[in-house]
Amino acid sequence: MAGHAREHTSAWSRREAIRLLGLGGAGLAAACGDTPGTEEPAVESPAPAESTLPDGAIVRTILEDLAPGQLAHGAVLFHEHMSLDLPFWDRLVGADNPARESFIGSPDAPYFMQDVDVMVEELQAAAREGVAALVDGGHADMGRDVSFLRMVSERSGMPIVVSGGYYTDPFHPPELADRTEDEIAEALAAAATAERWGAFGEIASSAEMTPGERKVFHAIGKAHLLTNVPIFTHTANGLEAETQLDIFESLGVPPGNVAIGHMGGLEDPEATVHRRLAGRGAFVGFDRLGGGPDADAHKVPMIRALIDAGYVENVLLASDFARASDIQRNGGPGYAKTVTQFVPMLREAGVADEQIRVMTVDNPLRLLAFVPTGRESAA
Ligand SMILES: [Zn+2]
Repeated sequence: MAGHAREHTSAWSRREAIRLLGLGGAGLAAACGDTPGTEEPAVESPAPAESTLPDGAIVRTILEDLAPGQLAHGAVLFHEHMSLDLPFWDRLVGADNPARESFIGSPDAPYFMQDVDVMVEELQAAAREGVAALVDGGHADMGRDVSFLRMVSERSGMPIVVSGGYYTDPFHPPELADRTEDEIAEALAAAATAERWGAFGEIASSAEMTPGERKVFHAIGKAHLLTNVPIFTHTANGLEAETQLDIFESLGVPPGNVAIGHMGGLEDPEATVHRRLAGRGAFVGFDRLGGGPDADAHKVPMIRALIDAGYVENVLLASDFARASDIQRNGGPGYAKTVTQFVPMLREAGVADEQIRVMTVDNPLRLLAFVPTGRESAA
């Protein structure tokens, strides 16, 4: 199984992938927010570009498998949240935490991540602002509801990639402790098929990785080898980033199928850790963007450092959207805030449009595209 996964990667070099996704200008304009609001169908990639894909590589959305070129007309946000539940927030921030309301909104209104009408409206606004697809980073232990996401995607027309896995140790279901890594991997592979997961994510470790989290990272690596389904992670602001990648690599998971997340939170102005991850071939996620200059200014030099070191092909951008106060209905910037709030800061810092396109379109599609093994359906 490891051999199969490696074959997948070697059949699709970085260079080919860039050529493959280096499509016309329409996508860039959309990703830069220059396109006026339209309901146009996806611009498909030219046939020659798709011919460089390994046979059968697809992006698995909740509704259908798509060729990556079908999502190349706008930004693909690799780590967002569109479905969580209130018990998750009670456990994460505490039921009595005054900050809770900024996440869940007014207690008098339905929670927006359980309100299909609100979510449809928000994702249609994101489409108008240049978003081609979003990846939901939740899973069952966070209260993520696959049928809700399917309904939202159907009604909004927005492609959604659903993921699955496990969050930090306190959220692990108790039965994990009694199961082996291989048993967990088998169950993950089966669930990935049954629920059409397009990624394993966000797979989480705490500031110091616990033994239970280490077990989950091993199980996720093994589930990847069974399925080829790509992986994105949660770190505590960049801590244990290299440990996460060490585990995956020790199992034979190709680093190009892994995005290490929340790396914008690491105090590392020269992006030393980020450059080491990229040098090993992994994607580096700056995935809490769009909070304005105070929150984001320090991330720009880190991204510049990666670009200057030759790693533009390893950078991923997203917002980890989670706050009710950020939806447009509540006067916030909305789900496209990576594109509308943060990308202009990059451009101001001299990052070229082509590089922005690589980071917002080509890279996430390269992470998400995989060749299903068929193995998972046997489980
Ligand atoms: Zn996270």
